[in-house]
Amino acid sequence: MRILTFEKIIMSQLSPRLESLSESATLAMSQKSNELKAQGIDIVNLSVGEPDFFTPAHIKEAAKQAVDNNFSFYSPVPGYMPLRQAIAAKLKKENNLDYEPAQILCSNGAKQSVCNVLLALIGAGDEVIIPAPYWVSYAEMVKLAEGTNVIVNTGIEQNFKMTAAQLEAAITPKTKALILCSPSNPTGSVYTKDELKALADVIAKYPNIYVIADEIYEHINYVGSHQSIAQFSEIKDRVVIVNGVSKAYAMTGWRLGWIAAPLWITKACNKLQGQYTSGASSIAQKAAEAAYTGSQECVEDMRKAFERRRNLIYDLFSKIPGLQLNKPEGAFYIFPKCNSFFGKKTPKGDTISSAADLAMYLLTEGHVACVGGASFGAPEYIRMSYATSDENIKKAAERIKAALAALK
Ligand code: PMP
Ligand code: GLU
Repeated sequence: MRILTFEKIIMSQLSPRLESLSESATLAMSQKSNELKAQGIDIVNLSVGEPDFFTPAHIKEAAKQAVDNNFSFYSPVPGYMPLRQAIAAKLKKENNLDYEPAQILCSNGAKQSVCNVLLALIGAGDEVIIPAPYWVSYAEMVKLAEGTNVIVNTGIEQNFKMTAAQLEAAITPKTKALILCSPSNPTGSVYTKDELKALADVIAKYPNIYVIADEIYEHINYVGSHQSIAQFSEIKDRVVIVNGVSKAYAMTGWRLGWIAAPLWITKACNKLQGQYTSGASSIAQKAAEAAYTGSQECVEDMRKAFERRRNLIYDLFSKIPGLQLNKPEGAFYIFPKCNSFFGKKTPKGDTISSAADLAMYLLTEGHVACVGGASFGAPEYIRMSYATSDENIKKAAERIKAALAALK
């Protein structure tokens, strides 16, 4: 008689869609760290990527007013018109890009925006090119859409940026989309205008390929003004920009992201979203409108703080033997190569065989939460988010240094 474990019985009841789907590693590690904190253990959490700042006061005020003004009804599926107008105005003013409000669709965070676009464009057999290291959810969302991930590996030697030649080599007749994230989670790399142009020149040659440009870290950039791949007119009608308020305005919990896309893609996402979540939260939309139409000083203040922390963490971690670092140019992550520790033993005698083992060791013995690189498609690396105080960064560096030195 075959005895099924409880887990296997549950899996047999679930749809095949869930079988190959992994849990979000970033959220899982953050939860683990919170559980240890709840037990009274002093954990420095460098796992989840979210600004540690409070939402700026004028944005919160707009939300309070929205409550008082009874913005309590369903919103239009793509979002209130004044918000979409504000986003179109932002795209013109900050990015010199022309979009009609009708081309904008707001969702429950940029996460839903990416998923909407993939579900709208990708079907069984379609290939999606994703340069690795990549944000954990892309590859899982492609699986949900029944597409095939085509991963293009980029290492620290090339500053984690895919070249035009690598892109072209990955293209097949089945390629439907490319997902590009700049500034990047998890590496902090930022593509220059010339590098984007080289990628756009390749895309221009293949009229059936679409680009999903995840620009959620647009404002967290330490090397100059943001460059969007949508600026190249030869491919603009095949680019979907994904962005939102989570990172720039410290609004992760409000759940408000958006796309700017060719009208037919926006309409397709509208149809999809209308069947499974409807419009995003009415209150969050009014708050986001205030974010885009109000003073942008808060964005620059937070960017400066992240830059200071980037300098601090880079400086401290550069002094830790065995870690190989690049200097992040944007976002709020550092992504050291840590494979020199693989094969070493912990003081308790356990062998570190992977970045996941190392992350677990750093959590349980060093009391610092990080995320192993495997779920970012980069198993020799480990991700740390420095969206935390200078004091926590210093504490984390000391603890990690000591924990790594104890590996033999
Ligand atoms: N894209 C990237 C690269 C991210 O890091 C995140 C943050 N989780 C998102 C999209 C989604 O952001 P949100 O859903 O909070 O708008
Ligand atoms: N962007 C964040 C991260 O990568 C949030 C967590 C998530 O949505 O995966 O840590």
